[in-house]
Amino acid sequence: MTTPQPQVDIHKQLANFSNYLKKKGLKITSQRLLVAEKVFSMESHFTVDALAEALKDRRGEISRATIYRIVSVMVEAGQLTEHNFGQNAKYYEHIPGQDHHDHILCLDCGRIDEFVNDAIEEMQLKIAGEHGYDLADHSLNLYGKCVELRTTGSCARGNPDDSGESASN
Ligand SMILES: [Zn+2]
Ligand SMILES: [Zn+2]
Repeated sequence: MTTPQPQVDIHKQLANFSNYLKKKGLKITSQRLLVAEKVFSMESHFTVDALAEALKDRRGEISRATIYRIVSVMVEAGQLTEHNFGQNAKYYEHIPGQDHHDHILCLDCGRIDEFVNDAIEEMQLKIAGEHGYDLADHSLNLYGKCVELRTTGSCARGNPDDSGESASN
């Protein structure tokens, strides 16, 4: 069901994170390391809500504001990519161990799949070139109905509180 976990060397990533904190003159606290370690045990696409849920045993010590701050430091450090998938929450994705890919998302259950298409990659380079740009990055998200929704009429992860709206064809 879910995207397989990327192979992440957690020790190496925590060392990189510590180095980044040092470089920025930020303290290496046990809270920061604990959150960073949890980040690398999450599925490859996760929200801060899901991360906070995974840390709920420690919620007494670690506030949501702290979790947000640590996540944004990890984005700055180049260890996480922030995705704006046009949903309520931003998604985060580990960079280490991940090759470039684009995303296709189910509008109903929020399922996220990844794809790479050489023709699209080349086309983007070509378009950038035609506009006089040297392409540095791109973000491509496709949206639709997942296979499960199309074949069974509902998705497993769909919100059961939805008032029958998803029953339309
Ligand atoms: Zn779905
Ligand atoms: Zn991804």
